Amino acid sequence: MPSETIRKTPLDRAAANLADYPAVRQSFTWASARGLLRGLPGGGLNVGYEAVDRHATGERRDAVALRCLGPDGVTELTYGDLLRRTNRFANLLDQLGVGRGDRVFSLLGRGPELYVTALGTLRHASVYSPLFSAFGPEPIRERLARGDGMVLVTTPELYAQKVAPVRDRLPNLRRVLVTGDGPPPPGTSSLNAGLRTVEDRFEVPPTEPGEMALLHFTSGTTGRPKGAVHVHEAVVAHHVTAAYALDLRAGDVFWCTADPGWVTGTSYGIIAPLTHGATVLVDSAEFEARRWYANLAEHRVTVWYTAPTALRMLMRHGAALPAGYDLTALRHVSSVGEPLNPEAVVWGQAALGHPVHDNWWQTETGAIMISNFPALDIRPGSMGLPMPGVEVALLARGEDGRAEVTDEGQVRVVDSPDTVGELALRRGWPSMFRGYLHANARYAKCFAGDWYLTGDLARRDADGYHWFVGRADDVIKSAGHLIGPFEVESILMEHPAVAEAGVIGKPDRVAGEVVKAFVTLRPGAIADDELRLDLLAFGRRRLGVMAPKEIAFDNHLPHTRSGKVMRRLLKAREFGLPEGDLSTLENAR
Ligand code: AMP
Repeated sequence: MPSETIRKTPLDRAAANLADYPAVRQSFTWASARGLLRGLPGGGLNVGYEAVDRHATGERRDAVALRCLGPDGVTELTYGDLLRRTNRFANLLDQLGVGRGDRVFSLLGRGPELYVTALGTLRHASVYSPLFSAFGPEPIRERLARGDGMVLVTTPELYAQKVAPVRDRLPNLRRVLVTGDGPPPPGTSSLNAGLRTVEDRFEVPPTEPGEMALLHFTSGTTGRPKGAVHVHEAVVAHHVTAAYALDLRAGDVFWCTADPGWVTGTSYGIIAPLTHGATVLVDSAEFEARRWYANLAEHRVTVWYTAPTALRMLMRHGAALPAGYDLTALRHVSSVGEPLNPEAVVWGQAALGHPVHDNWWQTETGAIMISNFPALDIRPGSMGLPMPGVEVALLARGEDGRAEVTDEGQVRVVDSPDTVGELALRRGWPSMFRGYLHANARYAKCFAGDWYLTGDLARRDADGYHWFVGRADDVIKSAGHLIGPFEVESILMEHPAVAEAGVIGKPDRVAGEVVKAFVTLRPGAIADDELRLDLLAFGRRRLGVMAPKEIAFDNHLPHTRSGKVMRRLLKAREFGLPEGDLSTLENAR
């Protein structure tokens, strides 16, 4: 039965990095975890230094850091190569007048340039911000503008499709560097030509642990996307959580299937495995079941970090398919990003030889906070137990479904098992976000006293395992990507036929949720299939992967008295659920 506990043997326990969870949880301090890293020679801490220099100047200099599977074959970069390549990139930033703290963005597919851009920027003590290459021009423009992007590294194709159309609305974007050896499009310069003009020696400048290192955009229910600020000392959490939750060690072949355009693909696709001296497998291609099994087998992947949507897609191909591949190198399988159904946990055991270990975290937490650990029994369907060093609470909720906070900033912790509350974390872990860029009030609203309020609802069973219940707000999770309804609604409302839009997540068996939009048309517009197709295409062109997959015409969108579309009610109507308290509904008056 899927929901039965999966027991770990004494052998499993003894073999894990975190063999004795209760003992480590009791004695753990973040200061001692900091001691697992080297730190800069003159003091200070730099993410890029811990990922690259530490190994490039030590025993693992000639070990493969990145094995990139590209359209033209395999490219391998050793730690030594990575040092030289990122040295050049950092020198190029110097030459371009990019200073510490200035923002360097990437809009790239999964290939060596992306890793060199990220690590070169971090080693330069500038701030790295990734953009997802499947975004459309609007989300890209929005993030570059809000993040004060000074430099963008991209491909000529992505530039032409997604940046050139909005470039005149990005006055502060000083430089666009394009990959490849062809002539750079007008308004850009060649990355390779620039790299050839600079030396391959560079020293990481003194960097304070509290200096800004990474800017990751995420979405909320209302307003524009938020730029979550992370600092260099986050690397302490990246490193130790990868050791404990993912069981990573030097010499592992590690594959994180999350795109590096998102936080998981950065914290665990770039930084954490390199701080451990692992070999990171990078595949530029999109999902294809046979290819994925072949990757696991041929590259002798030992630790695999993937996502529920990907696992569900593999499951659809049946359990017989993996039997044709040699997966004996695999030691640990983990998943994150959206609820993992119990069947997928159990399927892992049969198909991959290992159960899938679900874990939980979010952009703001920077690193894994709750996990099914390698040495602990798994409760399929549960997110697991808190990471050593992380204190989790469930907070009693008020009428709006979120944690109830008194005027004095007090909250009430729910103690009884199996009671739903808002998941909260006690501040103080090193990868906690330190702000939303240019949005101090929004940041302050995420905290009540010492607690960071996650916006997720969960319950805890009598044995301390946490179970995801849902979001307390209206954000949508589609194929692991967080989508803000407001961002989608705003773009739809730019279509000449649309007067108003309300956007919800509609359950989908594979992607978890897909975006569905309800639109009210302007007078004179005709609600027919032609317009529906036009709106779908308009969404895809402007928003890329964030676009709605379904459009419904609705001239009676429900509103609150303050005039906002009530997405909650749209959802309830869509799914035939009770409509709940309608006292704030405009036409209920
Ligand atoms: P993001 O900030 O894009 O990484 O999205 C974070 C959100 O994804 C969380 O707040 C949850 O709503 C959801 N999430 C992440 N991991 C899990 C998980 N293991 N189970 C259920 N939901 C998850």
